[in-house]
Amino acid sequence: MVVRVRAYRFRAYCSNTTARVLKTQLEKACKLYNTLLHAEQEEYEKNKRTMNKTELRQLALDLRKRNTEFQALHSQVAQQVAERFYQARQRFLEGLANKPKKKKPHRYLSLVYPQSGWKLSDVREVGLGKNKKKRRARLYLSKIGFFTLILHRELPLERVSQVCVKLDPSGRIHVIFLVEEAETLGQSSKEPKNAVGVDLGITRLATLSDGRYLENPKPLERSLERIRMLQRTLSRKRFLSNNWLKTKTKLAKEHEHLKDFRRDLFFKLGALLAQEYDLLVLEDLDVQGLIQSGTKKRRLRLHDSSFSELRRILEWEFLKRGKLVLPVPAYNTSRECFLCGGINRNLTLEDRVFHCAHCGFSLDRDLNASLVLLKRAGWVPPAVPAVELHPIPPLPALGLVGRHGGVMRQEAPPFMAG
Ligand SMILES: [Zn+2]
Repeated sequence: MVVRVRAYRFRAYCSNTTARVLKTQLEKACKLYNTLLHAEQEEYEKNKRTMNKTELRQLALDLRKRNTEFQALHSQVAQQVAERFYQARQRFLEGLANKPKKKKPHRYLSLVYPQSGWKLSDVREVGLGKNKKKRRARLYLSKIGFFTLILHRELPLERVSQVCVKLDPSGRIHVIFLVEEAETLGQSSKEPKNAVGVDLGITRLATLSDGRYLENPKPLERSLERIRMLQRTLSRKRFLSNNWLKTKTKLAKEHEHLKDFRRDLFFKLGALLAQEYDLLVLEDLDVQGLIQSGTKKRRLRLHDSSFSELRRILEWEFLKRGKLVLPVPAYNTSRECFLCGGINRNLTLEDRVFHCAHCGFSLDRDLNASLVLLKRAGWVPPAVPAVELHPIPPLPALGLVGRHGGVMRQEAPPFMAG
């Protein structure tokens, strides 16, 4: 039996006092992290050795005992800081990451409670109508205080292995429960009847091999524009000054808005595809075609993280329903002709239409790519592809309700007011 760790993430609300306590604790944890980093460096210079996990944890506890400042932290939280430093250093030693650096307080934003120091109580139903399953609960974190959680999904409380409280840069708070679950997702034994190839892109978020596509929605474009503007503003402010921090928070809010909007959209697209198809064919994970020059590069940076998220969400929606996902090599997908397999080397990023010099075939560039993916999955593409493209109508109109019920919520629910 495969056991995997799944994260359950909930929005949390607290009083201003509790929020201030959380912020102070994050500062202390950051300071502790930097102290450990410093101690490790000294140890290395003196004795040419690195400390192991137990030593680091013990050191964190000793520091907490000696220093009243660190006593604000729960002892397990302090050990968890050591654990985090240890993991960062291990990743560096294994060549997977850069050397751990001194952390800046505005970047240290989460605390972890491993087994004890937290308690969930007072779970009650609050949802109405289609939100009927929604419940509210109180979470007590030792040394910090009480939080109100909105439980929008079932939480297997008895299997929670650790609790993490996370302050978003915009000031929102989330609580993440890690739960160890037996892997229940079986691959279906049924032979898949129909397959869809999906090409992910920038101008169009997704182009399906059946000729439909999902445009970059207008709110998303506007959000991207605002982010670019704020980034310019931020670069003119003095680093870590008050105005810099203010702009930084604004920017963080916009980033989060964008992220939520995307997630919501991706889940809806995933649900739509998984309802219609048995097999999903995607490009393999190493993000291709991101080697670009100049201003384009910056534009792409806003997108590339969302590609992997879209992929993850689409995969999840299929696997959840016991359906199949097949990643195929992405190499040259946009340059290959799906009909004859000829390669068009002259195709540039600006070309929206693919012309094949070998067989004379022309087709929309992204549609051709999605058909190539399907072919690489061993699927016989339709003899005559859909030559005309159709936009997917705004997804809520399809009667699909996403995780957020199709409505973005920025403010606290009414029962939290006052
Ligand atoms: Zn051709």
